[in-house]
Amino acid sequence: MSNPTPAPATNFIRNVVSEDLASGKTGGRIATRFPPEPNGYLHIGHAKSICLNFGIARDFGGVCHMRFDDTNPAKEDTEYADSILDTVRWLGFDWGEHLYYASDYFERCYQYAEALIKAGKAYVDGLSADEIRAHRGNLTEAGKNSPWRDRPAEESLDLFRRMRAGEFVDGAYVLRLKIDMASPNLNLRDPAIYRIRHVPHWRTGTTWCVYPMYDYAHAISDAEERITHSICTLEFEDHRPLYDWVVENTPVPGRPHQYEFARLNLTYTVMSKRKLLELVEEGHVNGWDDPRMPTLVGLRRRGYTPESIRLFCDRIGVSKADSLIDVSVLEDCLRTDLNERAVRRIAVLDPVRLVIENYPEGQSENCEVPNHPQKPEWGSRSIPFSRELVIEREDFMAEPVKGFFRLSPGAEVRLRYAYVVKCTGFDTDPDTGAVTEVRCTYHPDSRSGTPGADAYKVKGNIHWLSLEHSSEAEVRLYDRLFSDPNPGGADDYRPLLNPHSIQRRPDCRIESALVQARDGEKFQFERNGYFSMDGAASRDGRPVFNRAVTLRDSWAKPR
Ligand code: ATP
Ligand code: MG
Repeated sequence: MSNPTPAPATNFIRNVVSEDLASGKTGGRIATRFPPEPNGYLHIGHAKSICLNFGIARDFGGVCHMRFDDTNPAKEDTEYADSILDTVRWLGFDWGEHLYYASDYFERCYQYAEALIKAGKAYVDGLSADEIRAHRGNLTEAGKNSPWRDRPAEESLDLFRRMRAGEFVDGAYVLRLKIDMASPNLNLRDPAIYRIRHVPHWRTGTTWCVYPMYDYAHAISDAEERITHSICTLEFEDHRPLYDWVVENTPVPGRPHQYEFARLNLTYTVMSKRKLLELVEEGHVNGWDDPRMPTLVGLRRRGYTPESIRLFCDRIGVSKADSLIDVSVLEDCLRTDLNERAVRRIAVLDPVRLVIENYPEGQSENCEVPNHPQKPEWGSRSIPFSRELVIEREDFMAEPVKGFFRLSPGAEVRLRYAYVVKCTGFDTDPDTGAVTEVRCTYHPDSRSGTPGADAYKVKGNIHWLSLEHSSEAEVRLYDRLFSDPNPGGADDYRPLLNPHSIQRRPDCRIESALVQARDGEKFQFERNGYFSMDGAASRDGRPVFNRAVTLRDSWAKPR
């Protein structure tokens, strides 16, 4: 697949939208919404929902509202809300003027609740949370009515108003819908829709000490905004009858319908916001934007592009069947995108000195290197070649194993875009035995691109930089954050953390021009993978690059 953003494949929800447009069911109007709770940073699972909701609006001439489901004041914060807006924009979506907050509807939710009480469809219950749970029954046993279920409407109304006025402590009362304590659907057994919470809200301050519950506020918000297709994840399927009940029994202007799809699960990844928060708070990672996190700020810092994430969401599709997607699918989408878009550069991640004994000291010459091997229109640049170079430590073996075609004593390789060299010797550190320097001689008539250069038949072709003409950088290589494919399924995911998930290489050599790389600029470092400049980690002209992804799926091979 060479085009990174092909037309999205259709799916069952898109089919419903098409049919509703064709039948005129929604009056020719399509309105979806993305409704995060501002209690954490968005993760790759949210991207699936964002692409689905905003994608439908884009492709069917509709609108997608950005709405914060801010009904739980204790856990929410502007820091999260700001990051969420920034991230949705970064992913490439635009809500235009349609930015809303469930808290904007608190007054209306309250008025509708009073109307429900007056109509005999809701009552104030004085049972404790434990008692309510005990009355609820279970899947095989019907629930029991609360003794307060039939209290007169005026009495409930009076209590509800006093709840709002702050006369009672948290938990003293709740407002419940009067639906059916014997319903086979537990969500319809007189669900609570209001509770007392003496907690200031990040938007409404201390205006309220009663807050609507999610199911109630969500249905009202959708209907107030005249959403046509309210798309959520499968765990809300059993809540749909309650959603419909609220829409039918309140004087809301809209008639939204709820549709459910399977949430995204990824191998080697935890996705629950609670667990992600723990990873940050317990210091297992360095913040929400740690490049190992599945958060969108983390993936962005790692080097993921919005295009690669949108491509991923298209490739995985949308269905009702729960599934666990292999994280290599995500990685491959980034490769597909960056292969097209990233310029090629040279970096030596684990340098060892290579001295060319028959090359004059103090001399240098320029070698032409293409910026993208398949895109001649991207041009080339010159890289200085000199007597003292650096090569990758792993490109030399003192005692080569069978099938090793790179440098070893007596062997010949081509230094990419330059000469063929023959290894004449090497030095080691007397204490550690580590190779400190490799020596060779070059064939002056073997320079790439010159007549006769092809006469040299060598199997190895390695990259290099001139020591004097290159610059220093740090490179960070990442592995999966967990060593188990399904950490979310374990009782405790902590023991499954991969102790080798980050590897720092502080002494890399890079082409000098890379010192000027901009934050987030992407490169393919030849033979080493795709990298992204990390502005936040770089300092004093010494850049840091994160490896976003390797060139090939190294996990596909046994390790
Ligand atoms: P939690 O239940 O931990 O608070 P949440 O995942 O429900 O988290 P929200 O902020 O409420 O978080 O999610 C916003 C929207 O994103 C919801 O519509 C939700 O269905 C969707 N969403 C969340 N996680 C996923 C996922 N893994 N795959 C697809 N959609 C998701
Ligand atoms: Mg939620």
